[in-house]
Amino acid sequence: LTSLVERFADQIMDYGPTIKLECIQELPPVLADSDRTEQILVNLIGNAIRYTEKGTITIKAWSENKQVWVEIIDTGIGIKPEDLPYVFERFWRADKSRSRYSGGTGIGLAITRRLVELQGGKIEVESEVDQGTTFRFNLAIG
Ligand code: ATP
Ligand code: MG
Repeated sequence: LTSLVERFADQIMDYGPTIKLECIQELPPVLADSDRTEQILVNLIGNAIRYTEKGTITIKAWSENKQVWVEIIDTGIGIKPEDLPYVFERFWRADKSRSRYSGGTGIGLAITRRLVELQGGKIEVESEVDQGTTFRFNLAIG
């Protein structure tokens, strides 16, 4: 997790958002496939970077009730309340004028949710327009 965050931080260098990693406790090993988990993180951190012009992306991880929870918190454009139910749908994207990139296809979160669910977890989202977005998912502890 730490090395992945560092890789992203290097890529965006000194423009755009800052990336912080906060691990509240030492994390136990999880019952999860590392490639899938990396893909989940790449998608969520990639979105946070894409939809956050200036500000901070915080990644938090902690263990609770035999689960490890991971949160990706950004201070970006946010998602309208009426759009939140659709973010995990294939090919769905919010109003293009709000997106920094037009390059996305809208498939990232659909895949991300599948990968989380394949590992027995769930993914949640909270967001406020112009304030930012938080995605949260869990992995079972081995
Ligand atoms: P890609 O297939 O390249 O990931 P995408 O990023 O547009 O394209 P998703 O990752 O599935 O597609 O996200 C769907 C839509 O949800 C985005 O187009 C964007 O409108 C919205 N969204 C996702 N993550 C965020 C975020 N962190 N902040 C604001 N909006 C977001
Ligand atoms: Mg995406």
